[in-house]
Amino acid sequence: MSSRRSSAGAAPADKGRRAQRIGLAGVTDPYLQAHRLAERAYLASHLTPISLRDQVLRGATLVARLLQSGEIAPDRPLLVAGAGAAGVTAALAAVRAGVPAMLFEASNDSLALQRFAGSRFIDPAVYDWPVDHWGSRLLRHGGSVPLPFAADYASRLASQWMATLQAQAAAPATLLTCYWGAAAIGIATIQLPDTTLGTRVVLDGVGSFEGGALIWATGDKQEDTAIAGSGFTGRPFWGPDDLTMLGAGARVLVSGAGDGALQDALRALTGRDDMGYLLRDLDIDPAAAALVQSAEDRAHRIRVWLPAGGSRANCFRELDDVHRDAVNIALAAPRLRTTVDATLAAGRPMVCVVHRQPWLTAYYGLNRFLALLFDRFLRNAGRDPLLYPGATIAGVTASAASGWDVSFNGTAAPPAGRFDRVVVRHGYKDMAPIPLPAPLIRNHLLPYHCP
Ligand SMILES: Cc1cc2nc3c(=O)[nH]c(=O)nc-3n(C[C@H](O)[C@H](O)[C@H](O)COP(=O)(O)OP(=O)(O)OC[C@H]3O[C@@H](n4cnc5c(N)ncnc54)[C@H](O)[C@@H]3O)c2cc1C
Repeated sequence: MSSRRSSAGAAPADKGRRAQRIGLAGVTDPYLQAHRLAERAYLASHLTPISLRDQVLRGATLVARLLQSGEIAPDRPLLVAGAGAAGVTAALAAVRAGVPAMLFEASNDSLALQRFAGSRFIDPAVYDWPVDHWGSRLLRHGGSVPLPFAADYASRLASQWMATLQAQAAAPATLLTCYWGAAAIGIATIQLPDTTLGTRVVLDGVGSFEGGALIWATGDKQEDTAIAGSGFTGRPFWGPDDLTMLGAGARVLVSGAGDGALQDALRALTGRDDMGYLLRDLDIDPAAAALVQSAEDRAHRIRVWLPAGGSRANCFRELDDVHRDAVNIALAAPRLRTTVDATLAAGRPMVCVVHRQPWLTAYYGLNRFLALLFDRFLRNAGRDPLLYPGATIAGVTASAASGWDVSFNGTAAPPAGRFDRVVVRHGYKDMAPIPLPAPLIRNHLLPYHCP
């Protein structure tokens, strides 16, 4: 990538134009407030929801609001820490608006997480199912998102986004400067030469840079794919896998009740990477979809306002109950039952999902609904179920044949035995460090597109 690495940089002075914007900078924008780390510094990580779609929206919307507030401008550069989806979006959005952007990335690569996720299908609208726009398969954004974002495999999206970044970094007289191997370790609010506030980012062993505002987009947390006490560590979520290639006779075990777990279980069970297409085939009764939409809406609102560390059990319990009602409505349709049967009959492996709690904890309605639907269908047909609530993995050892020998805790667990694949989706381990305490409100009810 054509990029530069340097140890110093600062906004050029243009006091007259800055002074015009000082009044605007006093405006309190609720979106900026919800992401605020310090004066002129905003957090785009450690927040929920956190899908790629949400991160792209965060990056673009933060920049739009920083422009409106006057905190960034052609003579007040934007500083961005982290070249993932959020940081790259923010830097490109600023440049597109005529604002210089400096992008600092600790590694030597952008969008590294998704680069090799060749089997992970991303549909920017599917998280919103069953809201009316879910079938568009596009990020609706009113033109303010600089990255192309139609439904595609994550690795292909990452390549397109990287190419967009590279082209911008290499463009003549570009306003974008990328600094690789530049880990941000601190931020400070400063007074710029025209006496308005600005920000400074400190980079490990590189120096410091100043600008109008900073977006801290260094990613979230480290994924937890280990089974404690067994020495087993599973494959990461964002990596290549063969779950959709496995045939009849194969046995897949998934541990976890969140969206990553359900996504992988459904992929293994149906042989499809793209649950949006699967939903279309199923042609779900609108009455069932309406129940789900209402329950998901209530749950989002509850989660946003829970106190820190507050239990989400009631919320998840209600969600599961309503989804189960919706599943029963959907399964009453003979055509849907035929489609589900055909999907499962095509030589698919046996898939077991074990999870500690009695309910699922997924964030997106789609995967919760489909998991409960397939589970109910299998149980009604007297076949091995998909979901094993109250069960956990007790031990995993490499099998003498191939795969893994697994034992379980819990009265309603699958029988101990050999599995060809063991997928562990236990959420996150540690928080990536941020230089200041995170904003108080970390659960957001994000707009569906840049408002
Ligand atoms: C198990 C799991 C399942 C998920 N499922 C989905 C899904 O189905 N669909 C979906 O859309 N999303 C999913 N996500 C979320 C998705 O991974 C994130 O939304 C997205 O990758 C976050 O993008 P980002 O730009 O915020 O951070 P990242 O992509 O993590 O990028 C952060 C960048 O910052 C760099 N960095 C770190 N520290 C510093 C520093 N101090 N200074 C400078 N640079 C630094 C890193 O090297 C990295 O390049 C999932 C995540 C997990 C873990």
